[in-house]
This record gives sequence, structure tokens and C-alpha cells, in this order.
Amino acid sequence: MTLHIAFDNSYARLPDRFHARQTPEPVAAPRLLALNADLARGLGLDPDALASPEGVAMLAGNAVPAGAEPLAQAYAGHQFGGFVPQLGDGRALLLGEVVDPAGARHDIQLKGSGRTPFSRMGDGRAWLGPVLREYVVSEAMAALGVPTTRALAAVATGEWVFREDRLPGAVLTRVASSHIRVGTFQFFAARQDTEALRLLFEHTRARHYPDAHTPLEVLRAAVDAQARLVAQWMALGFIHGVMNTDNCHVGGLTIDYGPCAFMDAYHPDTVFSSIDRGGRYAYANQPQIAVWNLAQFATTLLPLMEGDRNAAIEAATEAVHGFAETYQAAWLARFRAKLGLQQAQDGDAKLIETLLSRMAVQGADFTRTFRGLVRGTAGAEFREPEAWDAFAADWAARVASEGGTPQAARARAATANPARIPRNHRVEEMIAAAVAGDIGPFDRLMAALADPWSDTADMADLEAAPRPDERVRATFC
Ligand code: AMP
Ligand code: MG
Ligand code: MG
Repeated sequence: MTLHIAFDNSYARLPDRFHARQTPEPVAAPRLLALNADLARGLGLDPDALASPEGVAMLAGNAVPAGAEPLAQAYAGHQFGGFVPQLGDGRALLLGEVVDPAGARHDIQLKGSGRTPFSRMGDGRAWLGPVLREYVVSEAMAALGVPTTRALAAVATGEWVFREDRLPGAVLTRVASSHIRVGTFQFFAARQDTEALRLLFEHTRARHYPDAHTPLEVLRAAVDAQARLVAQWMALGFIHGVMNTDNCHVGGLTIDYGPCAFMDAYHPDTVFSSIDRGGRYAYANQPQIAVWNLAQFATTLLPLMEGDRNAAIEAATEAVHGFAETYQAAWLARFRAKLGLQQAQDGDAKLIETLLSRMAVQGADFTRTFRGLVRGTAGAEFREPEAWDAFAADWAARVASEGGTPQAARARAATANPARIPRNHRVEEMIAAAVAGDIGPFDRLMAALADPWSDTADMADLEAAPRPDERVRATFC
């Protein structure tokens, strides 16, 4: 079995100050834990070759295959609102890029592959928990139709990683249409390196927005992509957890699954991340934070905009403010679909807000309430089922007003309300099992989340809300 990958490394061809060449640090005893065969095939890679000793050596960082040019990408970023002029890949390496049979370009990146010039005090490593969490959650997002980075493989290193405890190490292979962040632009803007900004802009334009031509058009397209993305997060009860500008993808992908979580009981103020003490990245703040991040992106593009600076600022500001309209429309469309509605009517936002505020008061589980609309069991999610019944009457009237029937509306809602999401307590349970050497719960979770839309008889335990003693209250990166 020979591993042959036709790398074509466009980022490595950018000037030296975009990156630092770095070879991955070999690990003691690589062992393949998971391989995403479908994703591999989509990339034009042979899953059997990836699973061979030669493939696993690449996925562990123990061998650099022919054509790869491993490098750590330079970037900056606002972390919780404070600007850090240099972050960069401190524990990740871009191995190279492949162009799939359909012509789309993908980065292949190792995460947890050892120290780089951007590691600062870090060890460049990842432990098994976050690697498997990112694998499960990013693949669940892909199955739910959300733009995201993907997981190609997870490899155990056979080495310990030292955090608060001694933990088993792992390497994730991440695949993405690029790893260009708002923070990548900020890195060069902070250095007033307009030449590099221009090159990065052109690289980004060609990869993500080939139909856009000017910096303003790319900005508008990025605003649009982020607005639609965040509307999808909101419609799934997803909380990213660390929406720093270095974790904000210019192409509109969900990236950097750290302390992310899906809400159980709905409440707009929900925060999981243990490092988010002020609740900056709470569920309901996500749209505003996206706007804030996009304003930072806009600022980096100003030196590239032609003509009068004040006019450029005005146009860029207007482009960023365009978020609100796109977001509101996307949010309404997503929640209308969740209620099985086909037409747009004036009172829809109010109808949805009424349901959400009742859910918040009643401690209703987000995913189960919406799936419960499909199954006719939503009332059971409310402490006082009458609170649901009152809404259900309004909903039935609203369905009738567009000439629909509840049955047809429920059938449509089944395609917008997943039966299964990666529940925090199940993810934690899966990690604990994997640390103890049992990968079975990981495999079962992956199988359950591959098709989140269908009702499957033997998966009730994965769909259940956590009991009080099972509830995960904080997540860690
Ligand atoms: P994150 O919180 O994962 O978005 O990472 C923020 C920054 O910290 C990035 O520059 C990472 O590369 C860096 N970083 C996080 N963990 C480590 C680690 N264990 N070793 C080196 N750098 C790290
Ligand atoms: Mg360099
Ligand atoms: Mg990050």
C-alpha cells in the first residue's frame, strides 16, 4: 500500500513572513483511532493507504509525505476583546493542500503535532479529549449542513500530555477550505504590511469569493457568509464559546472547536466555556460578536480600498452593518423551517420569540422541544405543559393561515429539527471511555450523528436530556 497525495501548496508559495516552516515532532507510538473514509474519498485520497502504517505515520506527524511542505501559519487576533499582535499556529501545522476531483482546494492540517515558533509557553500538543470532541462535533455540524472544518483522522500518540493531570496525547487531522482567519489579516494590518495584505486578500478572494473582485465586495461576501453561519448556529442551539478574531474564519466556516457546546435547556444567556467569565460569547451575544469581528476584518481592508479614506470607511461600515439584515432574514428562515412554515408572514418573528421566551421560562430543552413539535411530544419538555399548549394553538392557527395542515408542517419540520445533536454529557462520557481505552462510545456517537434527521429506535439514550447529575455546566479548551 503506497500513500500518494498530489499536494499543491498555494499557501507555502506566499512569502516567508506568512508562515514558519516546521517539521512535525514525531511521537512514540502512533495508533489510528478514527479515520473518516468518506471524507478521504471526497478528497481523492485512498482510505486504505491512510490507514496503512505509512498513512498513520503521516497522520501522527512521524513522516512527512512527498510533496508536503509543513508550516505554521502566522496570525494575530483579539482574544476576549484584547489585541494580541502575534498568535499563529502554536500546536498545528499545515501539511499542504489538495485539490479534490471536483476542483475544490482543501488544507490538510495536523493539530497537536508539536511545538512551532508560535508556541510561546505551550507544548504544541493536544490531549485525546479535545481531539475527539472536535472530531465528533465538527462532523456532526457537517451532517447538520453547517459550514465547518472537517475531521479526517484522530491518532493516539502513545505519549502523555501534561495539563492539570497526566492525559493521553492525540493528533487530529483537520481538513478545511482554508485556515484564513480575521486574525490572519490583522497580523499584517498591525505591521502596516500593505503588500502582504494585498497578497493575502488576493489569495482569500481566489479561494473563497472568486466572484467578488474588490476588497469591499469580499467584505460584503464575508459578512453575508458569517451572518448565515451564525443564524445556523442559533437555530441549532450551538454556542461556539471562543469567538475571538483568530477563531473567526474569513470564508464563513465554523472553526476551532474548543469549549463549544450545544445547549440542553434553552436560555439566551447560556455560557459553557470555563474561560468566558463575563459571558462575552454567550448564546445570544453571538450575532453581535460576529459583527464586532467583521468590523475588525473591515479595518484591515481599509488600506486596500481605493480612493478617499473617509469614503472607504463609510462604505466598509455600511457593509458590516449589512450583517443585521442578512442575519435577521436567515434567522427567520431557519426558525420558520423549524416550525414547518412555508410562507413568510408579518407576525412570524413574534411567534418565534414567544416560543423561545416560554422555553426559557420553562427550562425546555432546545433540541427536544423542536423535535417534539415533529413527534407531538413537545409539551413534555415544559415544566408546565400548558405553556406549550398555548403556543401550539397559535402555531396551528398560523399553519392554517397559510392553508397548511399540522401533519404536513410536522413533516417539513422534521428536516429542520435534528433528532440528535452531540449532547455535552454524552461527549464527556465518550471522552472518559476513550481515555480508559474504550473507543466504542465514540464509534456509536459518530454513527448516531451521521444521520441526525431520522428517528432511530435504539438511540433514545443519545437523544435524552441530561439528568440533573449528568448536566455539564462548564467546558474547557
Ligand atoms: P485556541 O484557544 O485553540 O484558539 O488557541 C489560541 C492560541 O494559542 C493559538 O495561537 C494556538 O496555537 C495557541 N495554543 C493553544 N494551545 C497550545 C499548546 N498546547 N501549545 C502551543 N500553542 C498553543
Ligand atoms: Mg516563514
Ligand atoms: Mg484558535
